[in-house]
Order: sequence, then structure tokens, then C-alpha cells
Amino acid sequence: MSNTDFSNLKLHADLLKNLSTLGYESMTPIQEQSLPSILAGKDVIAQGKTGSGKTAAFGLGLLQRLEVKRFRVQSLVLCPTRELADQVAKEIRRLARSIHNIKVLTLCGGVPFGPQIGSLEHGAHIIVGTPGRVEEHLRKGTLKLDELNMLVLDEADRMLEMGFQTALDAIVDETPKKRQTLLFSATFPPKIESIAKRIMVKPMMVQVTATHDDSTIGQHFFKVADYEQRLEALRLLLLQHRPESSVVFCNTKREAQAVADELHRVGFSVLALHGDLEQRERDQALVQFASKSVSILVATDVAARGLDIDALDAVVNYHIANDPDVHIHRIGRTGRAGSKGVAFSLFSDKEHYKVEMLGHFIDRTIVGETLPPQSVLGNEPMAPEMATLQIDGGKKQKLRPGDILGALTGKQGIEGKQVGKIQIFDNWAYVAVSQKAVKAALKKLGEGKMKGRSFRVRRVNA
Ligand code: AMP
Repeated sequence: MSNTDFSNLKLHADLLKNLSTLGYESMTPIQEQSLPSILAGKDVIAQGKTGSGKTAAFGLGLLQRLEVKRFRVQSLVLCPTRELADQVAKEIRRLARSIHNIKVLTLCGGVPFGPQIGSLEHGAHIIVGTPGRVEEHLRKGTLKLDELNMLVLDEADRMLEMGFQTALDAIVDETPKKRQTLLFSATFPPKIESIAKRIMVKPMMVQVTATHDDSTIGQHFFKVADYEQRLEALRLLLLQHRPESSVVFCNTKREAQAVADELHRVGFSVLALHGDLEQRERDQALVQFASKSVSILVATDVAARGLDIDALDAVVNYHIANDPDVHIHRIGRTGRAGSKGVAFSLFSDKEHYKVEMLGHFIDRTIVGETLPPQSVLGNEPMAPEMATLQIDGGKKQKLRPGDILGALTGKQGIEGKQVGKIQIFDNWAYVAVSQKAVKAALKKLGEGKMKGRSFRVRRVNA
């Protein structure tokens, strides 16, 4: 039995058995390092990114502690976004499926408040939510945390970046002092340290070393000569490996735009994502990429923070990042626990010092590999599977995903499986449909009514 075996942990038998039915054969590094302390009831700070298996690390911890018979809120998980909260709740439900009657409730902003009150009245063991909405429920007295024994802050750095500091403090104030607190974060800016000091007791630090990233993410480095060759190298790698969704990271806004323009010129489905674009253009780029209507995003690090994608097929570093931490953060967006992602990094002679620093950081000697042969330049660029349609109506017009789905799939409509992600903004909404169904979808939405009126619909051009 190796020490990555879940059966080394003193988990309840039914939790353990379920793990093997989920196909979790061995612990991921973050689980291996954090679970013993979590199960021992200690406060833990862990460096965990999406894909590391962090949800199962805290999920198992809170399920192990849970007393099903005591129908009170015993655990609270706070996440920066609704998408993440939904993912976390889903994973906890999967982990809990061998235990009867566990109630997991999500409380997120951006959805009506009323129904949440109803759900809370029915009771829950575990709440997963975003700070703003959870705080609102506490303020209104619709949520009580007197019997909480486990508090989890997931992606704590992003919650602070998004301005949730006050909400977090207010929530912590409403929880019992005697509780276990877990904090997960991809980065550790001083603000995280200070919040950890305030709300945690003798926390254990778990840092999955950078070398680990190599074992789940295939990292490949390529040496290139000059501007022309860098761009060609990028094309060769994309055309050879054909990732369905990939992000190309650039160090400057100008470069991001230039590379996106150039890829577009040679036929790729690509958009730029950087701070010089208008907010609406950025939203559209993110929406299109998330719904697989665009295959490639060429982004700067700052702009890519808005990217809510759990796993990319590939990440390309057009230049090596100036800071090894940034490099690790970038490549951490590819590959999930259990499946391999790839990261390609291009560097020139001039960047040698950065390569050395990175090599030192990830504890390996970086050598350039051979690029794919020129002949792949003849391959057709990858075509996205979906297209995005924009509807001129959103939350303010009371449009909900169900209205759009209903209008698309109703009589003589398209099939449900041809409909992808639906995202609703204040005054407009986006729906992804399969490329093959675009015409039919435009017709159906254009001619039909939602909420008793018709809306203008158009295809968003990538
Ligand atoms: P997370 O980092 O929590 O978003 O998890 C990433 C993915 O890895 C999720 O789809 C989990 O279901 C999966 N996962 C978590 N732990 C394991 C494990 N020990 N073995 C295999 N897959 C896992």
C-alpha cells in the first residue's frame, strides 16, 4: 500500500468505498499533503488550483466531520464565483453520494433571493456560496451559523481580488470561534497572510511544490530564433496538437493583439483578451471561449484572470513569463487531476536568464525540443464546435436560461444537446449552439417569443 492510497486515511468506510466507485484510485499531491491534517481537525492553508483535487481534499474533510442526524448547517464553503460554487457543490454531492440524506445547498448572488429563503427553511448540512449573498442571508437572519464547525475559503486570493474582504469578515464574525478553518489559494499575497492570521489558529501550510506540476502537466520547451519563427512555431504546435481550447499567454497587451491578429489572418478561430479592450469586448471574448465558439484566446496574465475555465487542453507561453510563479500559475490552468494537460513554452536566446531561473524553480534542466515539421502548416486550423448567439435581452428583461432553452428546443426547434452554455448579463444574453444548428436556432429565436415578447438575436462573429 503506498502512502498515496486513500485507505491510509481513517475515512468512514462508506466515503472510502465511494471513492473507488468514482475512480479516485490514489490521492493527488494536495490531498496527500493536506488530508491527514484536515482529518485531524487542524486549520490548514493550502496552495490549490482548480484541477489539483482540492475540492475533494476539503470535501472529504467536511463530510468526515458531518453528523447527518443533526440537521443544522455544519459546514460553509465560500467561493469567488457562482460557477465555482456550483462545481464545488457538485463535487461534494458526488463525494457524499454513499451517505443518505445529506443536504448541500448553494447560495449565490445573481439568482433570485426568495427561493433561497425557502430552501433554507427546509434546512441544510452544507452551504456552498459566494460571500456577498451569504452575508446578505446572515444579515436578514435567514441563515444561522451557530452550529458551524467547518469553514472553507476556496480561491481566497480571488475572493479578495474581487473585493469580498468586508463580506468575509462579516461572515466569520457570525461563526463560532471554535471551528476548523481551511483556506485554499493559488497565490499568497500579504492580504492572504493577514486574513489567515486573523481567522485561523496555528494553521498548517501545505504547498505542493512546483516540481509536482511536471508530473500532471507535460511541459515542453522550444527554442526559437526571432519574431517570425516564434509565430511559426506557435502555428506548428497548434496545428500539430490541435487543442480544442487553448490560451496563448503574452507578456504585453500589444503582443497579445498582434499574435491574435496574425493567427486570425491565417485562419484560426481566435480572439485577443487584454486590458485595452472594452469591458464588453472582454466579456464577449470570455463568453465565446467558455462556450467553445472560439478555440484560442491570446491573453495577458491580468486579463486571463477573468477566465472561468476549469481545464484547458493546452497553454502556450509565447514568451516565458517574467516570474516563475506566473509561469506555474499559467500552466496550472491546463490538465485536471487524473488527466494530462500540456504546456508549450517558447524562448529565444535573449530569454536565457528567465529559462535558467525557471529551470531552477521547477528543478529541471530545460532543453529545447524539436518543433513539428513544416508540413503541418498545410493542415486546416481547428474549427470550433459551437457558435455563440447574442440575444438583446437579459436579467433586466427577466430572461432566464430556461426561457432561452425552451424557446430553442420547443416545437420544430433544435435538440437540447445542440445547446451549450447560456450566460445572462443585465441587458443581453448569450447562448451557444452547435455550428450545425445556427440557422435553425436563429430562426427559432427570431420568430418565437420569450416572456411574451420577441427579442433581437444575432450571431456573434469570432
Ligand atoms: P478540483 O481541483 O477539485 O477542481 O478537481 C479536479 C478534478 O479531479 C475533479 O473532476 C475531481 O473529480 C477529480 N479528482 C479529485 N481527486 C481525484 C483523485 N484522487 N483521483 C482522480 N480524480 C480526482
